[in-house]
Amino acid sequence: SIVFLNGEYLPQEQAKISPMDRGFLFGDGIYEVVPTYQGEAVGFIPHIERMQSGLASIGIQLDYTVEDWQKIIQTLIAKNESGNRGIYLHVSRGTDTKRAHAYPTGIEPTVFAFSFEIPPAPAPDKEGVKTFNVTSSEDLRWKRCNIKSTSLLGNVMHYQQSQDLGMQETILFNQQQELTEASSCNVFVVKNNVIATPALDNQLLPGVTRKLLLAILREHSSFKVEERVITMEEVRDADELWLTSSSKEVAPIITLDGTPVGNGSVGDVWLQAQALFSQYKYQY
Ligand code: PLP
Repeated sequence: SIVFLNGEYLPQEQAKISPMDRGFLFGDGIYEVVPTYQGEAVGFIPHIERMQSGLASIGIQLDYTVEDWQKIIQTLIAKNESGNRGIYLHVSRGTDTKRAHAYPTGIEPTVFAFSFEIPPAPAPDKEGVKTFNVTSSEDLRWKRCNIKSTSLLGNVMHYQQSQDLGMQETILFNQQQELTEASSCNVFVVKNNVIATPALDNQLLPGVTRKLLLAILREHSSFKVEERVITMEEVRDADELWLTSSSKEVAPIITLDGTPVGNGSVGDVWLQAQALFSQYKYQY
């Protein structure tokens, strides 16, 4: 496939980055994944805004505009197979001559992007949808989970906890037994037709799917929608639990730690939420 590296488009096997790159040595960088379906991106502007704010928060100065990123995404789509493509965008602080913790001056960020095939977006179909069995764990990551850092070891280890148990995700709670998010998704809780998700803070990623879903539900449904503290007690007592992420959109969880969620089948509120998401996702 054809990838983008530091202003050039080239075959993936010719794309080379120095082992002295701080992305490699320190995980010192920011990334994004933007889903595109038949060439049309979901949440392009919020994805780029989140990346720009992440870069600013770790002091990486990169002069790429929204138009520059749009051009990169369009070019990767044009130069690779068409269909449904995820676009991975990655900016590291750059390549130094030595390994030293302090932010170096006078180096250029490394900018890397590639596209990869993704499955079609999930349809609002109770029988056809991919369902999730999840486990739970205390959130053992760092205290800056709002930054979409390329240092993903904490997330990778939490994700693996679920794999080792034959499950598909791990939902996380803090020391106060309050829900944060999952290792690669945000989490929504439904009880008595009220839809809730943890309020944004340093404990979770401000997911673009989360943001779009909240906006769509508020504008196009009559459901009550809340952003607030959610205890694990509430999570275990929920009628429905959902994961949200760019690749999954809104995905129903049917068991938590081996116990059925609600009545153990895909929920009616999920059906309406995914239907609305499918209908309006390109408008935000
Ligand atoms: N939380 C974490 C830790 C993630 O890695 C992701 C990314 O997929 C999400 C939440 C969901 O974010 P988004 O909806 O922007 O894909």
